[in-house]
Amino acid sequence: MLSTIQDLAFLVAAILFILSLRGLSSPETARSGNAQGMAGMGLAVLATLLPALVGAEGGGDLIGRLGPILGGVVVGGGAGLVIAKRIKMTDLPQLVAAFHSLVGLAAVLVAVAARLSPDALGLPQAAGGHIAMASLVEMGLGAIIGAITFTGSIVAFAKLQGLVSGAPLVFPGQHALNALLGLATLGLVGHFASSGGTELSFFLAIGLSLLLGFLLILPIGGADMPVVVSMLNSYSGWAACGIGFTLHNSLLIVTGALVGASGAILSYVMCKGMNRSIVSVILGGFGGEAAAAGGGAAKEQRPVKQGSAEDAAFILKNASSVVIVPGYGMAVAQAQHAVREMADVLKKEGINVRYAIHPVAGRMPGHMNVLLAEANVPYDEVLELEDINRDFAQTDVAFVIGANDVTNPAAKTDPASPIFGMPILDVENARTVLFVKRSMAAGYAGVDNELFYRDNTMMLFGDAKKVVEGVLKSGSAH
Ligand code: NDP
Repeated sequence: MLSTIQDLAFLVAAILFILSLRGLSSPETARSGNAQGMAGMGLAVLATLLPALVGAEGGGDLIGRLGPILGGVVVGGGAGLVIAKRIKMTDLPQLVAAFHSLVGLAAVLVAVAARLSPDALGLPQAAGGHIAMASLVEMGLGAIIGAITFTGSIVAFAKLQGLVSGAPLVFPGQHALNALLGLATLGLVGHFASSGGTELSFFLAIGLSLLLGFLLILPIGGADMPVVVSMLNSYSGWAACGIGFTLHNSLLIVTGALVGASGAILSYVMCKGMNRSIVSVILGGFGGEAAAAGGGAAKEQRPVKQGSAEDAAFILKNASSVVIVPGYGMAVAQAQHAVREMADVLKKEGINVRYAIHPVAGRMPGHMNVLLAEANVPYDEVLELEDINRDFAQTDVAFVIGANDVTNPAAKTDPASPIFGMPILDVENARTVLFVKRSMAAGYAGVDNELFYRDNTMMLFGDAKKVVEGVLKSGSAH
């Protein structure tokens, strides 16, 4: 009876997770998707604790059975709440990477616990008292994927947080070493499973995987980090899935597979968006040789056309179509509300205003969509790259606010550029390009942007929010 209730609750939770993923796929339904995910997780936790709640498992009194778990929930949940409240939106990618590292570590720890106390976790036994071979395979795979996720995510976190250089760290023979380590790890898991659970091969496999996680992510340059974070998200899901098999927990298998598959799909979509090969992402160190993330590239000394807020207000008011291209700088300056106000004023003048979103604008997928949604920008004005790119040729003003790499034509023309092959927003085709940024500094990929020097470009130097507020003021003074 109890297990039927638990299975049913798990089924409902799994359905809620699927609905949640569907909801999260669009900004319009993201809030309800989030709520469904939280409801699913609440139900999953309750159903998992059900046997202990009703006293069917764990023995002792209720406090004794649930105390340690509730203690963990309060400490972990409290820490999560404080971090989530404090985190700046621009720092979310590193937070996600840090959280993934914990999922990876949890998978390793559960696998180790399962190996050391199989009875306590109810693992099926084969003849002779050994742990069944299938369980050993699942345990071994869960542990090594978890270990790679753990250290890989720590490197991703350190790179995104600026604790270590975002530049790719490459050395000769790197891929051969990674391949060797990968094969040795798999060999050890094979030995672990076929020998009935030799602890030495198990712990060696975990050790090599920890090393592999470091080595796989170190050579990846900063500009490719979004794909890496999403790939690690996928790995953490598969690690959880493997552990779900070990623990015979159907919900963990389903949830892990959902995270693993959605992370893999997102990575694939991003790879397509950046024109990278997914195979090289999985193997690490792709296309990073020339990348020099961090904005330190040498800049050209050519003259640029610089304008004032009044100039910008004049150009905008005389346009009939404006496309706003937001990027990381808009997020830093929190200029989204001012931008929407400016768009409202322009729309009142009868000007067609739309927003163009690059798949990797900002510092995480969907970053710009979230900011614009927060500022109540109507969803139908926000267009993805493939839906708007052709329209730039018929656009009077491309208003680029805090975006840089995602507009850089070097991605199309310079095979030596670290962003070569990445599709870009063709703002250069607009009649006038207004670039709002503080200086001539490079963007995340650390490369100069040829567009700044073009005849149809006007640079508006300053903090994104202040510049837009200046434009608004000048516009109303006209
Ligand atoms: P970029 O990093 O290319 O450019 C942002 C620009 O904003 C900078 O050149 C900076 O110039 C300007 N800026 C910074 N602060 C302000 C401010 N307060 N006011 C005005 N301008 C400001 O951003 P993009 O969005 O164009 O491109 C995203 C980059 O990040 C890509 O290279 C992408 O690969 C990478 N990336 C993306 C992730 C994602 O998932 N979206 C995750 C990790 C990396 P200045 O200093 O002169 O002001």
